[in-house]
Order: sequence, then structure tokens, then C-alpha cells
Amino acid sequence: MGAARAASDEIPLARPVLGDAEEDAVIDVLRSGQLSLGPRVAAFEQAFAARLNVAHACAVSSGTAGLHLALRAAGVRDGDEVVTTPFSFVSSANAPVFERARPVFADIDPRTLNLDPQAAAAAVTEKTTALLPVHIFGYPADLPAFEKMGLPIVEDACEALGAVHADGTPVGGRGHPAVFGFYANKQLTTGEGGMVTTADAAVKAQIDSERNQGRGLDMGWLDHDRLGFNYRLSDLACALGLAQLDRLDAMLAGRARAAALYREALQGIDGLELPCEDSPGGDRRGWFVFVVQLPCGADRDATIRALRERGVQSKPYLPAIHLMTYYRETFGHREGEFPVCEDVAARSIALPFFPELSEGQVERVALALREVLTTAGARSR
Ligand SMILES: *Cc1c(COP(=O)(O)O)cnc(C)c1O
Repeated sequence: MGAARAASDEIPLARPVLGDAEEDAVIDVLRSGQLSLGPRVAAFEQAFAARLNVAHACAVSSGTAGLHLALRAAGVRDGDEVVTTPFSFVSSANAPVFERARPVFADIDPRTLNLDPQAAAAAVTEKTTALLPVHIFGYPADLPAFEKMGLPIVEDACEALGAVHADGTPVGGRGHPAVFGFYANKQLTTGEGGMVTTADAAVKAQIDSERNQGRGLDMGWLDHDRLGFNYRLSDLACALGLAQLDRLDAMLAGRARAAALYREALQGIDGLELPCEDSPGGDRRGWFVFVVQLPCGADRDATIRALRERGVQSKPYLPAIHLMTYYRETFGHREGEFPVCEDVAARSIALPFFPELSEGQVERVALALREVLTTAGARSR
């Protein structure tokens, strides 16, 4: 055991499922000679939109690019405020800043870890022009509550492919611009990539233009009627995405199976908090990560080191955005502003989690965590 454990034996945090279908799909694109702006883009968009039962989808180069374009399409401008969660990947808070708007944080719900609708309502001012809820760790944010607030909504669904709201709508299928991410640890990967879904044809047209240098859809390459970016997704990436969509149900089922195994294996560890169960009302998580909150008083860094010595990767997940250096320095944030978020952020670690995680690997992780948390070493004195 210990440091001598071979690196190959270490259980990684994440691992994509990639096989012959992905290899063949990419080789086909290479042989076609059309690596970008080809037919796979629209094919991937249409298959993705159909899967979510939504009218339109726009493939973009990353989830972050998708958030940027979705906020622009929602009309967020210089000086506006966007109410969002401080418990997210930094990208959801950065996106408003790209447009010189201010991300205004509100605290999270301690059960779901998603933006608390009441706290969000209290943070709205006359400058607020959009709400940006995040479906954190794949658990559906309370969209019905946000919809009642009457403001434009952009959903960060980057962690939530496969999640379903209580009313049966897939997350990302309610019609607001909703953004997915396809980095290699996500439910579906294209290496890097993203997708914006929307019910609104005008939003689709604007994003399609702005991802491609502001080019008009029916114009020549060199005429541009608006400011744009290069946020395109290549045909290589879209071909990968199509192959991944074909196996999405199996991959989601693999993650759900791994989560159920963890729940079983981690029972009865004093003070350890597991991800919340699906609500009795019927919200269904699309499993993305398995994040546990360590018991109060446990030394997280020591726990992560001790897990590593036992061949288990883990990491703090996620840090509170408002306490990151850029946010402290730019917006003057301090400890104590969002106590629920800060408590969760201080105690959370992500455990290895991917569709092909085996029962034996789950048992090894659980045994290691149980050992580490029940020896005095992981407790702060
Ligand atoms: C992955 C992720 C994103 C987007 O990440 P990209 O690396 O830009 O694709 C945005 N928000 C959240 C919550 C994420 O997990």
C-alpha cells in the first residue's frame, strides 16, 4: 500500500467511454476532408435537440462559450446584474463578466446545493436582467420557481445531461437557452465542446451567427452584420458527439449504477453526507459526479492525501466562487456572505465516478474512505 502503489492501479476521478464507434466516426471525418462547417454539425444539433425534445440546438466550442452566447441572446448588457449561484464551476459566474455585467450571488439550498429561489428573489434589483441557475452535480434546479419570477433565464445545464424535472421535462428542454458542456469528464464528451438548446428560432439564429464571427446565415463569408466570435465546434468533435449520443443511455445508466453502489457501500460512516436523493416530487438527477461532504471537523486535505496513498483520486469540489481571488479582488467578496455555500464548499470532495466504475473499485474507494475517516489522522485536533 501507500506511495508504492503503481500509478496504473490508481482509481481515476473520471474516465470517458470511447470505443470503436468514436474512432470510426472521427476517421470518417478525416477521410471526408471536411473538418469544420460540414454536415456533422447540423446532424449533431438535430439529434441533440430531438433527445431533449426541444426545437433548436446550437453546437459551440465549449460550455463557457455557450453561456456567453446564451447570455448575449437573453439581452444581458454592460452594467446589468445576473443573479446566480456561488456554488458552481467558475465559468457560470465568469460569463456575465464577459459582457461587463455583474454576477450577483445568492445562497444555495442545503439539500439540492442549487441556487435557492427565495435567496435569488431577494437578490433581484432593478438592474437584474437575467437569472442564471445551475443544475449542479446534475440535480435539476427549481425552474418552476425561477420561471414565476418573470425574468429571462439562462440555464447552466453543463453538468445535467439526462436530468429530468418533476413535470417530466428534460433539463434543457423547457425552452430557455440551456447550456451543456462536453469536456472529457461530462456525461457526453467531444473532448471540448458545448451545446445551447432553445425553443426560440431567433435565439438559434443569433447564436449560430455569433459563434461564427457574426456572419449572416445567408451572407457570404466576408460580410458580417454583427460582432461575433469563433465559438464553432468542428465536424470532428460533432462526429464524436453523435457517436456518444448513441451510447448516452448506457453511459447514464452506468453512472446511476455506480451511484447506487456508492450509496450502499458508504452507509453508516459517521457524519458523512451523501448526495441528496431524487425529490419525492419527482425531480431526477442526471448523474455527473459523486460528491460527498466530509463530517464537520474532518481535515479535508489530509483525507485527500490519505486516499491518494490508498490509490484513490479525489479532489475538493467545488470551491465557492465568491471567495476566489479574482472575485474577492474585483467584486469585494468576503467570507460569511453565503454561509450554506461556504460550509458545503469547505467539506465537499468528489470521489472517482464514471460509467465503467466497477463494483470492486467502488468497494476499494469506500473501504479507503471509511478507514481514513475513522482513524484519528483525518480529524483536526
Ligand atoms: C463543465 C462546466 C461548464 C463548462 O465548461 P467548459 O469547460 O467551458 O465546457 C460550465 N458550468 C459548469 C457548472 C460546468 O460543470
